[in-house]
Order: sequence, then structure tokens, then C-alpha cells
Amino acid sequence: MTLYDSRSTILAQRLAAVRHRIEAAVRPASPGGLAAAEPTLIVVTKFHPSSDVLRLRSLGVSDVGENRDQEAAAKALEVADMALRWHFIGQLQTNKAKSVAAYAHSVHSIDRASLVKALGRAVAAQQQENGRANLECFIQVDLSEAYTHLAEAEPAGHGGRGGVAPSNIGALAELISGTEGLDLAGVMAVAPLGVTPEPAFNLLASLSAALLADYPGATGISAGMSHDLEAALAVGATHLRVGSDILGPRPAVL
Ligand SMILES: *Cc1c(COP(=O)(O)O)cnc(C)c1O
Repeated sequence: MTLYDSRSTILAQRLAAVRHRIEAAVRPASPGGLAAAEPTLIVVTKFHPSSDVLRLRSLGVSDVGENRDQEAAAKALEVADMALRWHFIGQLQTNKAKSVAAYAHSVHSIDRASLVKALGRAVAAQQQENGRANLECFIQVDLSEAYTHLAEAEPAGHGGRGGVAPSNIGALAELISGTEGLDLAGVMAVAPLGVTPEPAFNLLASLSAALLADYPGATGISAGMSHDLEAALAVGATHLRVGSDILGPRPAVL
């Protein structure tokens, strides 16, 4: 089924605008150097129907993101014949690991050992059944400590956006890389609300570099949303998660 209607026209325009912003922000090749690799644009379709996923697929989108298993599982089933990679980007309950393993290409929100174990078991079972590929795993990091040195009063909404403290990355990385069926893809973060994202993203980049020293395959940096994708690309983000600037506003019930 192809779907092209006025909604497709709007999505096409917004998608083109975001792609243009990405092109403008990707670090250009230094003289004699290599250009930064093209980042993966994950279009976050949460709260929007599977018809929008179909429209986006027709517009060349191959990576979509969701943050609730119930919604994601239903949508993935509705468009199961489409060549799409589903990225799970939200808080994940351990008892949902099996469901997520049935459709997800990656999980960006790994934040505890019990979740790694549950995903490992679920993916291993899937691999027995249908030979699915390994699950890409990003460790979500809480970056609020990038602001603790600031003299100013705690801004509202500071921190608390999920993830492990930087000092816990190593233990989780070791567990993921030692679990069959899981690939350690890198780090992920959401910048704190109400402050400039640069300190957070600079910290994320240095944590990524430290992780890479031990795990050369863990090249991923999942960072950058609608309002801060330029700041994320400035520190080398490899995976952007963009929702509202492409799909339009969501109901304000997050
Ligand atoms: C919703 C969401 C996004 C997309 O945010 P926008 O501001 O709509 O681009 C990115 N990352 C995570 C973890 C999200 O939950």
C-alpha cells in the first residue's frame, strides 16, 4: 500500500527541514580529513498512528523510535511487512523484555543489570525460534552531574531524565558485552531540561570515548532530539531521536 495524502505532504516538508538541519550541523571534513559519518535519523513516532509510520516509510525513513511497549508492539505488527528498524527508547520494565525482543532492532534505555539479563534471555529464545539478529544495546546515562559545579541555583527540572550514573557504565558494559544475543552499541542520553545541553553532551562524548577504549565496537552516541540535535551533532552524535519537529506536537501527557 502506498499512502500519499496531505498529511504525507506535511511530513515530507518537516522531514526535509530536519534533514537539512542535520546536513548543516554535521561537522564538515577538515582539510585532508574525513567527513563525519552520516548520523542515523530515528523518527520518534510515539502517540502517532501506524498510518504515519507508513507515510514515513514511503518518504525513505527506515528507523523509527517508540517509548512504550504496548503501543510499539501494536504498531510494529500493523506494519510488519515494511522494512523498518524499531528502536525502543523509553523506560523499560523487565517483564516487557520478551515483547520488545520480538520487534526491536535496538534498545536505547538500558539502565540496570536485571534488564540486561531479561533482554538476553528473550533475544536468545527468539534466535532459537527465528534466528533474529543480535539486539543493539545503548546504555542510558544520567548526565545531571555535568551541572553540579554550576554556582547558580538548581534549575527546575534538572536531571532525573533516566539512566545510570556515569560511574556505573563500566559494570553494565561488561555485562552486556558478555551476554549472548546482545551487542553493546554505545551510550544514550536525554539532556536535562531547562539548561543548555552543551555541558551534558560534552560529558556524554567523554564517557563515550572512555567506553570505546575498552569496547572498540561501542561507537554509538544516541543523543539529540528536536530542539537540541545541533548540539548533539557538535559532539559526534551517531543516532538522533527526533519526534515533534517531524510529526508535530503530541498530547501533553508525557
Ligand atoms: C519523545 C522522545 C524523543 C523525541 O523528542 P522530540 O522532542 O519530540 O524530538 C527522543 N528521545 C526520547 C527518549 C523520547 O522519549
